[in-house]
Amino acid sequence: MIKNRIITLIVLLFFACTSFLVASEDGVKVKARQAGEYVIVDGINKNPFSITVSYGASYVNLTSNIELPLLFVLKPFSKKEILKLHIDKNKFSFKADYDWTIGSKDAEHDKNYVYRFPYKLGTKEMVSQGFNGKFSHYGKSQYAVDFNMKEGTGVYAAREGVVVQTKSDSNIGGVNRSFEKHANYVTIEHSDGTLATYSHLKQKGVVVKVGDKVQKGELLGYSGKTGYSQGPHLHFIVYKATDGKGRESIPVKFMSVKGVVVKVIKNQWYIAK
Ligand SMILES: [Zn+2]
Repeated sequence: MIKNRIITLIVLLFFACTSFLVASEDGVKVKARQAGEYVIVDGINKNPFSITVSYGASYVNLTSNIELPLLFVLKPFSKKEILKLHIDKNKFSFKADYDWTIGSKDAEHDKNYVYRFPYKLGTKEMVSQGFNGKFSHYGKSQYAVDFNMKEGTGVYAAREGVVVQTKSDSNIGGVNRSFEKHANYVTIEHSDGTLATYSHLKQKGVVVKVGDKVQKGELLGYSGKTGYSQGPHLHFIVYKATDGKGRESIPVKFMSVKGVVVKVIKNQWYIAK
């Protein structure tokens, strides 16, 4: 009996430690604990944005009527019980792993929403790469739009929402995927659960902070060429999570002085309205 208890504890402790270590840096924890005759798994999200988590586990001498793997959403700053397993025998084992990505898989983009061009009203900028652009707008970036922009040009919110991520400390950029992580950016979560990211901003070129509610047309920062970039431009993308690892981009409409632009065209100039 005593021996069995020790094994149980070791198994649980081992799991608790590894999951804690994996998760402590990024504000997400999915960890198991023993409560009486159950093992309970809690999902904890300490980030200011929703996340989508995929979770798999293998176990012995435990039972649950929930089928694995699981795919679920955790709201900002939330905690939720995601799995409860009955302990059938004292000698059990439980091993789990998970992935998560920013945003909710349940987000449904408002197709009628007309975005503002992300620069000053009445000014014009040229689209240097549109949807399905051959240089880098494919896969998860299929519906991104690049605007050619002189360094230091004001970048404005194309849609209202909450600032959920920013980076502004980088001064590094270049024409190679390895520069991707060096981009400065602002990410905004919209009311329909989709996200927008404004990238390549200049160093110290972010004027909003995480948690800020921003209105459509509010100044977010200043353009630059940090990250994976051929030259100064703004990369704008609206997207949602698909599972614990992936995301998909979403085509958006913009308002110009000539009316609604359903699909921007490369090398075309647009005046923001
Ligand atoms: Zn781009």
